[in-house]
Amino acid sequence: MNNEPIIGRFAPTPSGRMHLGNVFAALMSWLSPKSQNGGWILRMEDLDTLRTKDEYAQLLREDLLWLGLDWDEETPPQSTRSTVYDRYFQQLRDMDLLYPCYCTRSQLHNVNAPHLSDGTYVYAGTCRNLTEAERSAKTRAPSWRVRVPDRDYGFTDLVQGPYRENLVTECGDFVVRRADGVYVYQLAVTVDDGEAGVTEVCRGWDLMGSAPRQMYLQDLFGFRHPRYAHIPMLMAPEGRRLSKRDQDLDMGALRNRLKPEQLIGVLAHAAGLTETAQPISAKELATVFDWGKLQGREIVVTELNELR
Ligand code: GLU
Repeated sequence: MNNEPIIGRFAPTPSGRMHLGNVFAALMSWLSPKSQNGGWILRMEDLDTLRTKDEYAQLLREDLLWLGLDWDEETPPQSTRSTVYDRYFQQLRDMDLLYPCYCTRSQLHNVNAPHLSDGTYVYAGTCRNLTEAERSAKTRAPSWRVRVPDRDYGFTDLVQGPYRENLVTECGDFVVRRADGVYVYQLAVTVDDGEAGVTEVCRGWDLMGSAPRQMYLQDLFGFRHPRYAHIPMLMAPEGRRLSKRDQDLDMGALRNRLKPEQLIGVLAHAAGLTETAQPISAKELATVFDWGKLQGREIVVTELNELR
């Protein structure tokens, strides 16, 4: 039995007002550590400075507090940490695991490249073994890729169960720094979670395929693997995925109509944590929280009308 406190985190991208799916991810990531006297860290993932805004980050904080989801610490936003990421990038370079990639977007998405079922491609290794002379003949700025080992990375997700992926056949060498110098999500998230001592990563099921890449980087940087909980996506009763496009379900609209307990009650019931959608506070819900009650890739919000 492991008695270490759970350190969870919520790592939103402040590119708009929180919508119902973000609220659900925030709530689940908070409930698990808080049901066991653990800690919860907030971190703004604002690497994409063209899409993210400080005012959205501020609204996010206000919305979380309104929901009763208080954080123990907010770690610095990713946009301020490029010198930290530089150090980890250099570590990978010193290990001789990085190489520049000059492929254009259209080369990467070439029909001949093997594609995975989700539409992403497996990098064919085009620039893996270029000679120095071939590299210096290139005129475009390169992105940087990390070489992956031919092995599986597997884990037992707290919600989805066992998952494994071979990094060579199902991913290929992946980009850690873009041609414009911006570090990519996989590197930043690994460094940030690792440095903050995060022990449990809870996020949407759509990000499950990122975990093996992050586990590989954790090994290289000497961080421990966290536990993973990839939570289901929220669906409308008619079977459609709820998304940012449902503007009547963003926090601006929801806060005008509801009390936090009403919103949490509907989500808790949809998740299978409670028998009914009765209003409940986040604190009370923490007393009955159990990952074992959540399952699947999709959950239907049957009481959606109560939110509209
Ligand atoms: N920033 C990502 C998002 O807002 C979440 C990444 C993560 O939790 O690892 O969807």
